[in-house]
Amino acid sequence: MPSWKRRSAGTRGPLLLVLVAVVTAFAAACASGPMARGMTVETPAAGSPAASAAATSPAARPAEATPSPTPSTSPTVVTPSATAPGTTTPARTPGAAAPVTSTQPGAFTVQVDPPFVGRGDTMLVRVTGPTGGTVRVAGRTVPLFSSATGAWAVVGVNLYADFGPATLTVAGRDAQGKDAGTVSATYTVVDPNRPADYLVVTEEVGAILTPEAGAKELQLRAQQFASFDATPRWRTAFRHPILGFEVTTQFGSGRSINGGPIGDFHSGEDLAADAGTPVTVAAPGRVAWAGEMPIRGNSVVVDHGGGVMTGYHHMQDYVVSAGQQIEAGTLIGHVGSTGFSTGPHLHWELTIYGVNVDPETWVNRNFPR
Ligand SMILES: [Zn+2]
Repeated sequence: MPSWKRRSAGTRGPLLLVLVAVVTAFAAACASGPMARGMTVETPAAGSPAASAAATSPAARPAEATPSPTPSTSPTVVTPSATAPGTTTPARTPGAAAPVTSTQPGAFTVQVDPPFVGRGDTMLVRVTGPTGGTVRVAGRTVPLFSSATGAWAVVGVNLYADFGPATLTVAGRDAQGKDAGTVSATYTVVDPNRPADYLVVTEEVGAILTPEAGAKELQLRAQQFASFDATPRWRTAFRHPILGFEVTTQFGSGRSINGGPIGDFHSGEDLAADAGTPVTVAAPGRVAWAGEMPIRGNSVVVDHGGGVMTGYHHMQDYVVSAGQQIEAGTLIGHVGSTGFSTGPHLHWELTIYGVNVDPETWVNRNFPR
C-alpha cells in the first residue's frame, strides 16, 4: 500500500466523516419528496414515520441512533383473517434467514427477502401471480415490475427506520390491469451493527458547512430525485466505480462529534484513491444530473430505472451531461476532492426512490429485473 494512503488514513477519515454526517441529513430530508416520471410514487403522508424522519433535525436524531434492536416477533405468514404468529426463525441478523412467504388463499403470494433487514439495506419483494401493481411500505407506495413468474420491487429501508416488525402491503394487478386483491407481509428491521466513529472537529472545519450551503445542497437533491425512469436498466450486479480503492468510511457509519452522542449516519461509501483515478458508472442508465454541489462537490447522478439511482461525488471533474444514456463502465469523471472534502476519494451513493442504502449490497447481489 502506498505510504500516502497509510498517512492519510489517520488524518483524512475524521474530516471526511464531517461531510458525511451533514450530507446524510440533507439526503434524509430530500427523500420525502419524489415525484413520478412515468409511474406513481406516493410520498409519505405528514406525520408518518418516514415523513417524521425526513423532517427531524440532525440534533433531534441521536436518540434514534442507539436503540437496542429487539425484534419481538418472527416473520409471519399473513392470512386473510389475522396476522397470526408464524413460523419461528432464530436468525436476528440482516440477511441471515431464508425469504419469508406470505400467501392469501385465492389471491397471490408475496415473498420478502431478507425478512430480517438492516437499516439502510435493500429488501426484495417478489409476487407470484399478478404481473403488476404496487407495494405500500414505510409510508410510501412504489410500483411492481413484471417478471417471468409475476412481479417484483426493490425497497430501501431508511437509515432512520424504527427497529422491530413492520408490515408491507401488495396491491396486485393482472396482465389486463384488473385488481388482483391485496396481500400483506411482515419484515423486521434490525441493527446491522455498523461501526461508529468518534470525531474531534475544529471550528474551522465546522464553519465550512454554512446554512446557505446546506440549503443549496437540499435544493439540488430535490432536483435529482424529482423523477425516476420507469424501466429498470440493470441486468447484472453493480460494479465498483473505481479500481484500486480503499474504503475509508463504510455506508451507514454513525458518528459522534466532539464527544456528542451518535448522530447522523454516512449516506454513502467512501472509496479513497489517487486523484485522477477514472470513475466509471456502476450500471447502465441515464445521467439524471451532472454539476457542482456545495457539499458533495462535482457530482454525477445516474438513474438506472425502477427507482434506483447512483451518485458519484467530490470528483475532480465530470465528463457526461444530463440526459445522456450510458452503459455500465462508461467513464463519468475522475476522483478528486471537491466540495467539503479533505482528501481525494469518491463518495458513492445508491438510492431507491431517494432512500439511501448500502451500495455494497448491489455489488454482491444481482437483484432481478
Ligand atoms: Zn462519504
